[in-house]
Amino acid sequence: MKDPVCGMEVGEKGESLTHNGEEYRFCCATCRWAFEQNPKQFTES
Ligand SMILES: [Zn+2]
Repeated sequence: MKDPVCGMEVGEKGESLTHNGEEYRFCCATCRWAFEQNPKQFTES
């Protein structure tokens, strides 16, 4: 899976978060935090 914040490939061990029924994974807590602050920025193009 791909970290939507930084674009890095993340394995099963990444930080996970479910948003609007979709699971996202992050390389680190910082990317997860950034996503939580403004999910729209990363889920809408
Ligand atoms: Zn990241």
